[in-house]
Amino acid sequence: MGRVNSADIATLFESQLAIWDTARNNFEALSGVKVKEMKIGNSTMKVQFNPARITSSAAKVDPKSLKERKCFLCAANRPAVQEGIAWGENYTILINPFPIFPKHLTIPCNSHVDQLIKNRIGDMMELAKDLDDYTLFYNGPKCGASAPDHMHFQAGNKGFLSCESDIDKAIKKEIISNEGARLSHLGGLSHNMFLIESKTINDGETLFNKLYDTLEIPAGEPEPMLNILCWYVSDKWNILVVPRKKHRPSCYFAEGDDNILLSPASVDMGGVFITPVEKDFNKIKVSDIQTILDEVCLNREETQAIINRILK
Ligand SMILES: [Zn+2]
Repeated sequence: MGRVNSADIATLFESQLAIWDTARNNFEALSGVKVKEMKIGNSTMKVQFNPARITSSAAKVDPKSLKERKCFLCAANRPAVQEGIAWGENYTILINPFPIFPKHLTIPCNSHVDQLIKNRIGDMMELAKDLDDYTLFYNGPKCGASAPDHMHFQAGNKGFLSCESDIDKAIKKEIISNEGARLSHLGGLSHNMFLIESKTINDGETLFNKLYDTLEIPAGEPEPMLNILCWYVSDKWNILVVPRKKHRPSCYFAEGDDNILLSPASVDMGGVFITPVEKDFNKIKVSDIQTILDEVCLNREETQAIINRILK
């Protein structure tokens, strides 16, 4: 069996959009979404008004709500019209009917197992290489995943997220390296991030695990809070790791005028903030984005503590 490639995905989009009205309408609506741009540090941030994302942004992800709903990533509950492409034995590549990207994929595990990245970063890297027109991303169970009970990656076409080019504008400080990979801290951007650049899956995985093992796991949680973006370009992988300390910012819960319905996930951490409510899109300012990032991401001291633990 040949490996899945970006051309196979193009064919999947064509056949699915021909027969699936909801998906087609939502992808078509994307061409009309409003976007505004702002600068924070050396980062270019975009804000996208995207009403179709309300279900995801406002998703109830507490254990009780999850138990009471049918999992939309399980094959048995997916719409009959939704077809996928098998990737290896364990994953299926699907088009995402509620897109943010002009090309947006959801890649669930074939079994209903918890959303956890441990021992799966290699899968993510392999997917990123096979789908080299795409940036892969992973939302931790408390960092934007709307199905934290069903392991899945997502992917969006390259050239959409500003992080892909913003990493070149960062103040990059190498922390450690091995034969084929290096782990750096990225400063000077809108928030603190770590970047693993790797020539091989094994070397990238080793440095990812090293970083992962230094992150704190909140009480009662299965894994450290994080978002991960991964793309393959010029014969190497870039793995952007964004450690988090909060799921949803205070504006998400605020009453009245202070309320902004924004539930940050990898796409937001990659430079595109999604507001499903129009009044939020209209009023949101650089200072709001900065406040949200300060609340949900690690500050300099917290980041330095991780670096110190890696170097110990
Ligand atoms: Zn499921």
